[in-house]
Amino acid sequence: MKMFDFVIVGGGSAGCVLANRLSASGKWQVCLLEAGPADTNPFIHVPAGIVPVIRSKVLNWNFWTTPQKNCANRPMHWPRGRTLGGSSSINAMCYVRGHAQDYDHWASLGNEGWSYKDVLPYFRRMENFEAIDKVQDGSQYHGVDGPLNVAEPRYVNPLMYAFIEAGQQAGYPYREDFNGAEQEGVGLYHTMQKGGQRCSNARAYLDPVRSRPNLTIITHAHATRVVFDGKRAVGVRYMHNGRYTDVRARHEVILSAGAVSSPHLLLLSGVGPHKELSRHGIAQVQELPGVGENLQDHLDIHVTYREKTHHSVNFQPRALLRMAFSALKYIFRRRGELTSNFAQAGGFICSDAEQPIPDLQWHMVPFVNSNHGQTLRPLFKYRGFTLLTCFLRPESRGRVTLNSADPFSPPAIDANYLATERDLAVLAAGVREARRVLNQPALAPHRLAELEPGPAVQSDDEIRDYVRRRAETIYHPVGTCRMGRDTMAVVDPRLRVRGVTSLRVVDASVMPTLIGGNTNAPTTMIAERAAELILQDATIRHGITALRDSVYSAELAEK
Ligand SMILES: Cc1cc2nc3c(=O)[nH]c(=O)nc-3n(C[C@H](O)[C@H](O)[C@H](O)COP(=O)(O)OP(=O)(O)OC[C@H]3O[C@@H](n4cnc5c(N)ncnc54)[C@H](O)[C@@H]3O)c2cc1C
Repeated sequence: MKMFDFVIVGGGSAGCVLANRLSASGKWQVCLLEAGPADTNPFIHVPAGIVPVIRSKVLNWNFWTTPQKNCANRPMHWPRGRTLGGSSSINAMCYVRGHAQDYDHWASLGNEGWSYKDVLPYFRRMENFEAIDKVQDGSQYHGVDGPLNVAEPRYVNPLMYAFIEAGQQAGYPYREDFNGAEQEGVGLYHTMQKGGQRCSNARAYLDPVRSRPNLTIITHAHATRVVFDGKRAVGVRYMHNGRYTDVRARHEVILSAGAVSSPHLLLLSGVGPHKELSRHGIAQVQELPGVGENLQDHLDIHVTYREKTHHSVNFQPRALLRMAFSALKYIFRRRGELTSNFAQAGGFICSDAEQPIPDLQWHMVPFVNSNHGQTLRPLFKYRGFTLLTCFLRPESRGRVTLNSADPFSPPAIDANYLATERDLAVLAAGVREARRVLNQPALAPHRLAELEPGPAVQSDDEIRDYVRRRAETIYHPVGTCRMGRDTMAVVDPRLRVRGVTSLRVVDASVMPTLIGGNTNAPTTMIAERAAELILQDATIRHGITALRDSVYSAELAEK
């Protein structure tokens, strides 16, 4: 059986950061287990390749939620990355940290070390922000020495500029940097890209260090459970090439399998609510009632218009010809439309005047809504553009539970969307505001009829019904192994699983509450900080062991 100092489960956004940082000194042996393949598929790296990548059956776990009772009983498709880089290899690359107050809120819940003041240095450490001299107070908020490249767009669809102008006509300020002192306003997103290619966390953190002799990366390694000795995590069992294999961890096992799979793995390993474990005949290692609870996600509703001009992305002859030219531009110069992440512009706004900070986020995309790439038929039929609106801090809480004790059977995901009146009301307000912006003069040259919700949907009841029928995830599940100090917390503020030893969770699942923005940058920050905490603890433990050994040898020598 192979022995390492640290075994990391999941080579996604957080796992790649840990693999890099924990192996950096050369002192520790690190093993990274990833269920999916290496990230060699070229569509991962071409930003516009997001459409085939998100539809892939290989690079994507393609989870489904249970039928959502407040959303017309629809099960919803939940893509999650299944390759090195994890969801950062299939995401939309928008670089957003959330609002400073989100982190102060985490700290106010008893999570010391996670206030905005505490986490800002990690956000700065992780990035190489190319536009540092172009944004206000750039060096105060951004870094230039980190592995994650953050770039300005190399190509901007004209519909994006029209949207930004429309937002200003509607009264919102232009925001050049959503990650600076102020978030509210409309503007272009910075993207996690480098030289016109996706900069996934695998590209940023793993590629430069793959040859380190103390780092072992095993792909196609599906972890099935954590191995315990009593209450101490001592290794991981995984399936590889059709055979079960165990790896041992001298110091720690770290779960970075994401907000769906980390709680799933804890449950399969006997750490979770007693009732849930016994229902599936799993021997309990530690009763931990919060595992899988507290699931939060950003639910998204769209407003779509048909387009008069010819800037949108679609499958009609003129747009396909344009794409063919763009492909040549991309191949030879890494420029043009294929460098686009599509969701190029957006904004953060308040749903009403009472809100102290923005509670709605916009993503503008230059095509008709296609259920996030799942239904391509509308792209053959229409030219158009879509404004997606999500409520940033929903009150609804769902859960991840077991469907069965079979580790290869996906868990049951109940997002429990729209469980509160407020969640529905804020999204309905978002639809009205999206319509108001899309009807500003700046978009008049591009705008034809509204396709969805459509002119027939006007009253409050009609809009609410539309939200229930058509809202979808914007892919930001968090919170299922949340940090905290109360009985429902799964990890403590140092991200150690409560009640057992040598086991941590480090990924989006530890967030106590959703942040006001996209979740890749916050997850990367969490992993940066976690790496520091893990190394501090390991160094202390190592020092104590060395001291104990030297005292023991001195005693032996005396005898
Ligand atoms: C389609 C999509 C678009 C998105 N767009 C954006 C965006 O524009 N901007 C943004 O900031 N965020 C975006 N996000 C969200 C962001 O990418 C995620 O929040 C972030 O990647 C989560 O990181 P993680 O480390 O928690 O999990 P992941 O990155 O999902 O990593 C989990 C890893 O664990 C592996 N794994 C799971 N189970 C096992 C197992 N049993 N054994 C071994 N390995 C396992 C998985 O294969 C995966 O590689 C998007 C996400 C998606 C899916």
